[in-house]
Amino acid sequence: MIGIIFDIKRYAVHDGPGIRTTVFFKGCPLRCWWCHNPESISPKIQNYTRKVTFDGLEMEVEDTVGYEISVEELLKEIKKDAAFYEESRGGVTFSGGEPFMQADFLKETAKACKENGIHVTVDTTGQTSKKDLDKVMPYVDLFLYDLKHMDDAKHYEYTGVGNKKIIENLWYLAENKKEITIRFPVIPGYNDDEKNIKATLELASELNGAIREVHLLPYHNIADGKYQRFHIQSKMKKMKSLPEEELYPLKERLEKSGFKVKIGG
Ligand code: SF4
Repeated sequence: MIGIIFDIKRYAVHDGPGIRTTVFFKGCPLRCWWCHNPESISPKIQNYTRKVTFDGLEMEVEDTVGYEISVEELLKEIKKDAAFYEESRGGVTFSGGEPFMQADFLKETAKACKENGIHVTVDTTGQTSKKDLDKVMPYVDLFLYDLKHMDDAKHYEYTGVGNKKIIENLWYLAENKKEITIRFPVIPGYNDDEKNIKATLELASELNGAIREVHLLPYHNIADGKYQRFHIQSKMKKMKSLPEEELYPLKERLEKSGFKVKIGG
């Protein structure tokens, strides 16, 4: 079976426990205004032009994002770092994009990893079907689950999809006793108001038994060049990155509610 990925990041320490290899899948059903990986959105392999400077001369070079890979080839890549996983209690993380956009490939790769004793984490938007969750769930040790906005209309406005299915699927994973870390991207002026923080905290508390940790992901203004490269119009107003220190009070508040909290994942 063949999938399309666009990157493999080794020695990752923010995508789950221990040292991990993170595999980035192509394709995402969301269109978040603050997306750092706009190259992940299209499920297809894409050609693009980028500018490079050589000896003071600026020129344009052709490049490609995304490539096909088989389950066997990907497993081989993942297994190269097996010694690090063992020492650090790490493993592999499937991210994107949205890995569930390639649910069958995700299932087969996760299954192969589990058969090789590798801890599997899936970083997901939750925008998928129960059928696909059922398919993949048995081979996943931990879900990193994004909660972007608790208000359905605002979620739709800022990401292109409502949050009903996402919240339903989060409950479904919890009911199935899956281990879950909630990831909350904190985007100033978009989802950091008291009403949304309170609603996010309430949901996390209701699910408390299933929640391993909460990760607060501060907004970073790093993707401007990528938007130009892929001819995507950014809807974000120009905004500075959010310094980590500004999230300390929220971290403390969540910790007081009984959660283990990390800033930056
Ligand atoms: S879910 Fe992630 S990859 Fe998809 S659009 Fe949003 S930020 Fe980008």
